[in-house]
Amino acid sequence: MSQDNNCIFCQIIAGRQAAEIVYRDGLVTAFQDIHPIAPIHILITPNKHIPSLNQITTDDQQLIGYLFSIAKKLAAQYEIEQSGYRLVLNTGKDAGQSVLHIHLHLLGGKSMPVKFG
Ligand code: AMP
Repeated sequence: MSQDNNCIFCQIIAGRQAAEIVYRDGLVTAFQDIHPIAPIHILITPNKHIPSLNQITTDDQQLIGYLFSIAKKLAAQYEIEQSGYRLVLNTGKDAGQSVLHIHLHLLGGKSMPVKFG
């Protein structure tokens, strides 16, 4: 599995950096965001280091789809599938991406304004 030793999420995935892991399998790791902005704020990330959506290839299509299926599973586990939840995938500077390793933010547990930009 390709990893980047300088990437904080690769370090979490490899167990070299502490995080509150909530899900892990051979392809995906999910953990609590260190600065949550909602009662449920989980980051879902591929174990493979891919800096952003701009770097995915056709080989990654299944993996990206799989991230969404884990989001659905965790939404059910955290009992927010009925109340609703938001998935956010920031890409690049203008979107405020601060960690260059693809991740879905799973946000829920409160009513969120429909506001972008
Ligand atoms: P983004 O701005 O989309 O790149 O989101 C990066 C997210 O990673 C932010 O919400 C941070 O709070 C979170 N984050 C950064 N470092 C850690 C860490 N060591 N453990 C958990 N979450 C982190």
